[in-house]
Amino acid sequence: MTGQKYVGAHVSASGGVYNAPKNAQEIGAKAFALFTKNQRQWVAKSLDEETIQKFKTALQESGILPKHILPHDSYLINLGHPEVEKLEKSRAAFIDELQRCDALGLDKLNFHPGSHLTKLTKKQKEDADLLQTIENKCLDVIAESINLALDKTKNVKAVIENTAGQGSNLGYKFEHLAYIIDKVEDKSRIGVCIDTCHMFTAGYDIRTREAYDKTWDAFGEIVGFEYLSGMHLNDSKPPLGSRVDRHHSLGKGEIGLDAFRFIMNDERMNDIPLILETIDETIWAEEIKLLYSFCE
Ligand SMILES: [Zn+2]
Ligand SMILES: [Zn+2]
Repeated sequence: MTGQKYVGAHVSASGGVYNAPKNAQEIGAKAFALFTKNQRQWVAKSLDEETIQKFKTALQESGILPKHILPHDSYLINLGHPEVEKLEKSRAAFIDELQRCDALGLDKLNFHPGSHLTKLTKKQKEDADLLQTIENKCLDVIAESINLALDKTKNVKAVIENTAGQGSNLGYKFEHLAYIIDKVEDKSRIGVCIDTCHMFTAGYDIRTREAYDKTWDAFGEIVGFEYLSGMHLNDSKPPLGSRVDRHHSLGKGEIGLDAFRFIMNDERMNDIPLILETIDETIWAEEIKLLYSFCE
């Protein structure tokens, strides 16, 4: 089993994207995630030919394959933004991110779906119909953003990440992911990344064999494993269903180690990047070793 799991972490690309493969190699990773630009800034200078070549050389030396790399887009992008000007800015930045991945020879871009930003009272939140109307409207905008971006780019798959559902962030229900996918025209260029912490705090339990099977059965039925393109392996500080996004080191949070043992022996997670975003990067090498030790 060990040979079919590709575990790594979201490594630093500081100093240049070409530093990421070495940073991954140093912690014994067989996969990694990175930002291809400063994630807190809107614009970055485009990747020059020398940088691209240095990245490709470093990647080859690391032995890590492009398909096991899961670049993450900027936190500033909101593809469901309710204001036209900000939506346009997000869409342009997202297209730039897809093009950067393509230039580096990478085939995926991981992003958070978006937020409707409507301030709702407690009473409004409890109105299921109202909430669904607001959420679906935003999901429609997100799907349109993806279609526009895919139309203007090539080769790179847009990989939607599930969220904890903090604030007005969408993507906390499998139904949200399925809703977006349904509206995306080119199904060959859409995928999902499931973050275990987000899944858990959104209310999907994976702590016991029974809960794990039930959650993934629902995922298979609602979204479909053909779309599973990567995972973020994180334990969670907040409890089940808290809708709060706070990662923890494996085994130190509310999820516990069994869930990760199940994942490492689940062939549905073969051959996709499995990325740690746990809080203590000094123990990533140990966490990677621990995960591989779970393979039966
Ligand atoms: Zn994540
Ligand atoms: Zn998170």
